[in-house]
Amino acid sequence: MITKVYKINRDNIDTDKLKEAAAILQTGGLVAFPTETVYGLGADAMNPDASRKIYAAKGRPSDNPLIVHISKWEDLEKIARDISGKAKKLADAFWPGPLTMILNKKDQVPKETTGGLNTVAVRMPKDEIALRLIEESGCLIAAPSANTSGRPSPTLAEHVLKDLNGRIPLILDGGEVGIGIESTIIDLTEEIPVILRPGRITNEMLNKVIGEVTIDPGLISEDSGVKPKAPGMKYRHYAPKAGLVLVEGEEENVIAKINALTEELQKHEKKVGIIGTDETVSRYLGDYVISIGARKDEEGIARHLYRILRDFDELGVEMIYSESFSSQGIGQAIMNRLLKAAGHQILEV
Ligand code: AMP
Ligand code: MG
Repeated sequence: MITKVYKINRDNIDTDKLKEAAAILQTGGLVAFPTETVYGLGADAMNPDASRKIYAAKGRPSDNPLIVHISKWEDLEKIARDISGKAKKLADAFWPGPLTMILNKKDQVPKETTGGLNTVAVRMPKDEIALRLIEESGCLIAAPSANTSGRPSPTLAEHVLKDLNGRIPLILDGGEVGIGIESTIIDLTEEIPVILRPGRITNEMLNKVIGEVTIDPGLISEDSGVKPKAPGMKYRHYAPKAGLVLVEGEEENVIAKINALTEELQKHEKKVGIIGTDETVSRYLGDYVISIGARKDEEGIARHLYRILRDFDELGVEMIYSESFSSQGIGQAIMNRLLKAAGHQILEV
């Protein structure tokens, strides 16, 4: 299969290209498209064969459910039951935007889309290209991140092409995404809503709108016996090909430790990558040192993370050492992704 890539100007969307993409979705095919979080790999959520194609193209485990993308509130009523007042409040506050809600599903939603669960994950994305594609196709679009399963999520169309070239017919290229990490997932089927995956919409933001929220114990437990409730969170994920180790502690100690570890590996002819910050990059000795941004610009750090992990793969780096970040606010999502990418390898210094 030849994979076409169409550049789309968000401020002046080419209707012919959009119609071509919509026609692929209507006939059960796959289209990759930008959202404000990461690129998604879309298919008609109500067509089980179309959903199956997503799992095949990504190599995704079949028990890992998909998020259904909608463009208007009424779409939610087509697929979800027991839509609570809290769901309504959250939609008013954060949709369109980077928040996914888990609700009880209606029978019409195929099990292929929900990984066999009786609940469905729903999000209204903010990206104009995504919204127009949903409307033009008349489909609700099931779309996980458009990467090969386990790899870092794509923040550029080039990342999608790298992973899925020859496996899907079309990629809509809307340039670099704005947020760069996947949506926050909140489970509203519990009495007290549970955060299953941290993201740009933080616990504090959710708490202000609906009161008490809790965090899935499976997300924070070091004990691998405690399974996260979002099936996707149990897999090693977001991972570069190289090994990744986080180093945490006082700035001076972190720099010294990373430099020492790097020197040691370089003696053995290993290519080492270092993820520093604007404040520290000039002090590292490695051959491949990249700044993830300024420490106080957490949004920038989130946006750059996956691209840096992929860039190190392109450079053929064999080991990556990264600074660690605060786990407050957006930092919680950043650290969640970094720790998963690192397989929880963290050195305290
Ligand atoms: P992705 O779209 O690749 O970011 O992955 C979607 C994430 O949502 C995965 O971690 C899934 O396990 C999670 N998810 C989707 N549907 C559900 C659901 N019904 N219940 C719990 N988690 C879900
Ligand atoms: Mg994903």
